[in-house]
Amino acid sequence: MDLKQHIRGIPDFPKPGILFYDISTLLRNADAWQVAVGRMAHAVSKAQPDILAGVESRGFLMAAPLASKLGCGFVMLRKPGKLPGNTVSYRYDLEYGSDSLHIQEDAIKPGQKVVVVDDLLATGGTLAAAVELLRAVGADVTAAAVIIEIMALQGRRKLDVPVSALVTYE
Ligand code: IMP
Repeated sequence: MDLKQHIRGIPDFPKPGILFYDISTLLRNADAWQVAVGRMAHAVSKAQPDILAGVESRGFLMAAPLASKLGCGFVMLRKPGKLPGNTVSYRYDLEYGSDSLHIQEDAIKPGQKVVVVDDLLATGGTLAAAVELLRAVGADVTAAAVIIEIMALQGRRKLDVPVSALVTYE
């Protein structure tokens, strides 16, 4: 199955000049979504994770069913102000300004193997921040996985772990 047929590009979202790759159409097609989760499970299982860490919010959509399928735990990397209890954060730069990702400080047991999951790899800033945050709480980050990779932005250069992508665009 060609998963690209279930992903649409929406021009000028969220602002003029940006082509937004929308996975809503993939999620709502039962067969396509099952194939996507199965393919990512195959790719991610090679890294033998104990935990899958999903990046808010679309990373959760893939990481949670994948964790269930692989028999792993699932941990949330969230935007500021969302997680209860003590948290650890990592700030990263965006094109304009900065953002931060947060994790509960006791989310990972020291040395647990973690694979970080998001919907899309563009510049790599988000996944690089996720990897650093996970390491700060003791994770052994063994891989990253995304549904979509935008090749021209060379985001995987920012990452020092193997990255798997289900579909790529130039
Ligand atoms: P990066 O940090 O530049 O690699 O951007 C990746 C992050 O931005 C991911 O968390 C994505 O959810 C989000 N993102 C950027 N572009 C798109 C897009 O075209 N579709 C969906 N999400 C996007």
